[in-house]
Amino acid sequence: MPTTAHPKTYRVKSFGCQMNVYDGERMAELLAEKGIVPAPEGEEADLVVLNTCHIREKAAEKVYSDIGRLVKAGRLAGKEPLIAVAGCVAQAEGEEIMARAPAVSMVVGPQAYHRLPEMLDRAVAGERATDTDMPPIAKFDALPPRRKSPPAAFLTVQEGCDKFCTYCVVPYTRGAEISRPYKDLVAEAQRLVEAGAREITLLGQNVSAWSGEDAKGRAVGLAGLIRDLAEIDGLARIRYTTSHPADMDDALIAAHGEIAKLMPFLHLPVQAGSDRVLKAMNRSHTAESYLRLLERFRAARPDIALSGDFIVGFPAETEAEFAETLALVDAVGYAQAFSFKYSPRPGTPAATMEGQIAPEVMDDRLQRLQAALNRDQHAFNRASVGRTCEVLVERTGKRAGQWLGKSPWLQSVWFEGEAAIGDLVTAELVGAGPNSLAGKLRETVAA
Ligand code: SAM
Ligand code: SF4
Repeated sequence: MPTTAHPKTYRVKSFGCQMNVYDGERMAELLAEKGIVPAPEGEEADLVVLNTCHIREKAAEKVYSDIGRLVKAGRLAGKEPLIAVAGCVAQAEGEEIMARAPAVSMVVGPQAYHRLPEMLDRAVAGERATDTDMPPIAKFDALPPRRKSPPAAFLTVQEGCDKFCTYCVVPYTRGAEISRPYKDLVAEAQRLVEAGAREITLLGQNVSAWSGEDAKGRAVGLAGLIRDLAEIDGLARIRYTTSHPADMDDALIAAHGEIAKLMPFLHLPVQAGSDRVLKAMNRSHTAESYLRLLERFRAARPDIALSGDFIVGFPAETEAEFAETLALVDAVGYAQAFSFKYSPRPGTPAATMEGQIAPEVMDDRLQRLQAALNRDQHAFNRASVGRTCEVLVERTGKRAGQWLGKSPWLQSVWFEGEAAIGDLVTAELVGAGPNSLAGKLRETVAA
């Protein structure tokens, strides 16, 4: 590759899960340390990082079409950008990307992106570089301190997965489960709050599997970490995602009833309502054990809002088994949920299982499931009308004087009046749509 000018502007495009959003923010910070600034809206960037997701179909194809679009736009603007592919597609298909896309000069996996600045120097000198090593902790130690934070920030506390659900690529692209050390997390949370965060969502592919040693050397789980983070002045709210039913312990359930800063919200993926399907998925729970677990959370925190993930059309799923998923949805009454068509992922056991389901059957099941989930989400929102609650203001709304924030139950709430981004205001919820609520401002709560 020919040498190129050192980039002055960057754009990081993150796809997929919140952990990718976190990684994208950290890569942006690394580039900022090198004096590179975000490209102004509407302008082509000198350096583009595509922070990819491999969880479902067409992710890789999407990367190639994005690269093609960037090259074309760059040519039209008279400058072709340096392109880095990061994230899980980079991890899974790094060599192929280098072979198929000559416009890409850097491929960097999710555990290696702390080396991006050094790879960038090599790319500027005309050398193409791939780094998909997996030394998990090195990355966090090498990242610069957080300087700026949105009011609602993410903090990755745990990475990787040892659960090996038969449909999922995460154990292969993100590696084995590791927990970041307690003291690093407390320090990063403290810095996030100093940098403007009022809410922190603790992230992990299996966040409830986090474990560590607290400041006194005692073994603690996620509940212990949350308890100590709740002591940070200026931090008003704590959330965590994503949990696995196998790792939910008594301490975490109790924490929901005891720690005021821990928000009344739980995202607990179930995937399916049929025990045969759950077994074939290598999930360690049954529909019944999942429902019992939710009951314990509801007993600890009666107003807790529940969320989940679902997959329809797992190999050999019958109509009767799908009906069990619908029955589970009816039994839970989710406040919100994510639902997906099963997507065969190369290298996973389910991809070669008998009985792959026809696309039109999956479409039909997804539609019926989403109708049920949307019905319940709307019902949950309608049941919230009349409540007065705190709303964390995250951004301006579409109209002048309008603000958008989140309720404790993770609902989007818009309202009008005197406020600023980062304020915690008290609002009465006065109207409900399927995806958001209207609020009436009551007061702004001091920081
Ligand atoms: N570790 C978390 C868990 O167990 O729920 C989340 C992992 S994954 C990033 C998020 C969701 O993607 C999963 O809960 C599952 O519903 C969905 N998913 C994963 N692999 C999939 C596949 N091959 N096809 C369709 N959906 C998939
Ligand atoms: Fe994937 Fe299952 Fe691990 Fe979640 S628990 S990341 S779905 S293998």
